[in-house]
Amino acid sequence: MAARLLKVETSVTAPPPPLSLRGSSRSASPSTVPLPGCTVVDGRSTSFWFDKWLTGGTLATRFPALLSQCTRPHASVASVSSGGLHLQPPLSTAAVGELTQVLRIIDDTSLSAGADRRVIDSPSGPAFSSREAYRMLSPSRPPDASACTTCGLRLPTKLKIFAYLADIDRLSTRANLFYKHCAPSAICASCPEIETGRHLFFFCPPAVALWSHLGVSIPPGLVSIWDLPAPI
Ligand SMILES: [Zn+2]
Repeated sequence: MAARLLKVETSVTAPPPPLSLRGSSRSASPSTVPLPGCTVVDGRSTSFWFDKWLTGGTLATRFPALLSQCTRPHASVASVSSGGLHLQPPLSTAAVGELTQVLRIIDDTSLSAGADRRVIDSPSGPAFSSREAYRMLSPSRPPDASACTTCGLRLPTKLKIFAYLADIDRLSTRANLFYKHCAPSAICASCPEIETGRHLFFFCPPAVALWSHLGVSIPPGLVSIWDLPAPI
């Protein structure tokens, strides 16, 4: 069995990675991209090395020394089971140590008729779909309360947009322009502070004087412009 699996290559002819989900998963950071789990049936659409079809992670992460000497790293489970690993000699000591374990895995793998199945690698294990994968890859964000507040105002659209951009600090203040390399400095023109949106509208001395004149007390560390207190 070992002789059949340990096919020796005379030249390294590794094929390019297939344009598939497995290929994109390998190119991204494994710490941020959850690989789909696979249930092997006929093994034809499951990558032997890079898919999670066994517990304990992919074989690529468990047996890196052996993979480094494999000339067909993108082979499927079915092709490895029938055609062997295709290793480039001489094997390193580490690869020889890993080979015994991998051959045992191959011997224990039984294939049958039917398509392989994929599920999202999570405790709930939903069936794999692009929508579910996108949802899991996207960071969870709180609802944009500022946008909800802005849209509910009875103001001209351009004022809504300006207020929203001011609230999320996306106006062309010196701080933002300096960050985009469009201004020589981020310092306010009226005082030695950094000109952020909050500073410009609430904490710069001219703004403080204006709010004081209007009878509005600006709380320190104001988070949202929608939290402004009513005039006294
Ligand atoms: Zn200022």
